[in-house]
This record gives sequence, structure tokens and C-alpha cells, in this order.
Amino acid sequence: MPSSDIVARSSRFFPDQNVMTLHFDILTIFPAVFPGLLEESILGRARRAGLYDVHFTDIRDFARDAHRSVDDRPYGGGPGMVFKPEPVFEAVESVLATPRASEEATQKIILTPQGRRLEQRDLRRLSSAEWIILLCGHYEGFDERILEGLGFEAVSIGDYVLSGGEVPAMVLLDGIVRLLPGAVGHPESTTYESFETRTLDFPQYTRPPEYRGMKVPEVLLSGNHAEIARWREREALRTTREFRSDLLTGSEGSRGQDDSWEAGN
Ligand code: SAM
Repeated sequence: MPSSDIVARSSRFFPDQNVMTLHFDILTIFPAVFPGLLEESILGRARRAGLYDVHFTDIRDFARDAHRSVDDRPYGGGPGMVFKPEPVFEAVESVLATPRASEEATQKIILTPQGRRLEQRDLRRLSSAEWIILLCGHYEGFDERILEGLGFEAVSIGDYVLSGGEVPAMVLLDGIVRLLPGAVGHPESTTYESFETRTLDFPQYTRPPEYRGMKVPEVLLSGNHAEIARWREREALRTTREFRSDLLTGSEGSRGQDDSWEAGN
């Protein structure tokens, strides 16, 4: 589906649902990779219900040569190519020229492994924005003047390197949209889950009560809600201690309570 259709379809099929729409702008050299993910499941339903929309800008449209090049060799030598400043600045300026929300309700993010590592609480904070701009890199990354000059928040989705910012942009979009009121069937689903508290989620089971010799813990079949709640709390702590003890202690590079991207958040 052409990227422009993504916006057109939300307004055509769900014209006036009286909901606040969170606007995303994604700047990328690969706009064609996004549409499938935006069609399905929670993201598809939320978009069709008008909870959010997505506009794409192809950074190559701002290239200045016949080859539509947006990258060049790094000064000082070394492997790979680097995003040139001119097409990126001009693409960003074209997006900012038609604001979709006030400055205070806008979040501008550049995806880079050199950014602050994304956490669940950042997604919660971002879910109250009205306009989110996501700038995707590629190659060896951005000319440093793009990071300095645009003043965007630099965000990393984790301590590993992907080939481009498109998957990281989808990670943010997905994580934010599912927190929007009305996006998931039960609002509690997004309140009691891993990282919302400083623990991981507790183990979950469904039918049958026994499968290949593996039994569902008795307590979950007991109907005793107080016991079930205690069991879940204990199991959440056990899993967290086993796999992510840093969440309990606030150590291992985990950001401190007040260490947010922006002062005051
Ligand atoms: N040379 C860079 C480095 O070592 O940090 C890696 C560049 S990476 C191959 C190309 C682009 O993918 C980045 O500019 C960024 O947009 C995106 N990217 C890769 N890993 C990422 C991560 N963990 N978080 C956010 N963006 C990432």
C-alpha cells in the first residue's frame, strides 16, 4: 500500500469518532517497509479507529543530485557512508513547516544507538504527546551536525546495532500506540505488565490444565483470588530476580528514578 494511503484511509473509513488522534511523522529512506505492520492487530484497529495516524517523508525527496543520494564518505576515512546534513535538515524542516500540534505537545526523536536507552516509562510519557516525529538513520549513522543542530532527543532502543532506524521507529510507535486509551480491549492489560512496576510479569497459563505432563499450578485453578494474587506477586519477583535483578536494585546501567530524557519529566 502506498504510504500516503495510510493517512487517507483512516479519515475515509472512520471520519469523526470524536477521539484525540496522535500524529506520527516518520522520516526515512525506506517508507515502503512500514505499511504491513500498521495494518494488523492492535496497530491496525487503533489506526482505523482514529487513535493515531502516520505520515511518511522520504528523505531522498530532499536529495540534490540525479542519483537522489543522501549519504557520503566519512571525513577522516573509515568504512561505510554517513547521512549528509542537507537532505535531513531540509526533510525535517518540511515536516515542521506544517505543525500538527503545539510545540509543548510535540516530541522530536532521532533514532540512534548513541541515544538514551528507551524504557517503558518513556513510552508512557510519549503516549500523552499529540505529535511525535521520528527520524530514522541508516548506513554508519548521521553526520554529527544533524544530532547537534536539530535538537531532537536521541533515543536508542537497546544496546545492539540494527541496520536502520525503521525497526526502532516501529518499536516506539507500537509501544506508544498500545498505551493510548482504547487501543487494547482491557486497559488493565497495559497497567499490570513487565516494566510498569519494577518487576517482570508473572507466568501465565491457559487451558488445558495439563499438557505433556506439565501442570498448571494448583493455586490458579483454586478460585481463591487472594491466594492467586499472592502467588502472582511472588512469581513476578522470582522471575525478576532470576532474569533482571537490576530492575529491583536500579543497577546495571538502569536509569535512576529521575533520570528522564527531559528535565522535569
Ligand atoms: N555506526 C553506528 C554506531 O556504531 O552506533 C550504527 C549505525 S546503524 C548501522 C544505522 C542506523 O540504524 C542508525 O543511524 C539508527 O538510526 C539505526 N539504529 C541502529 N541500531 C539502533 C538502536 N539500537 N537504537 C536506535 N536506532 C538504531
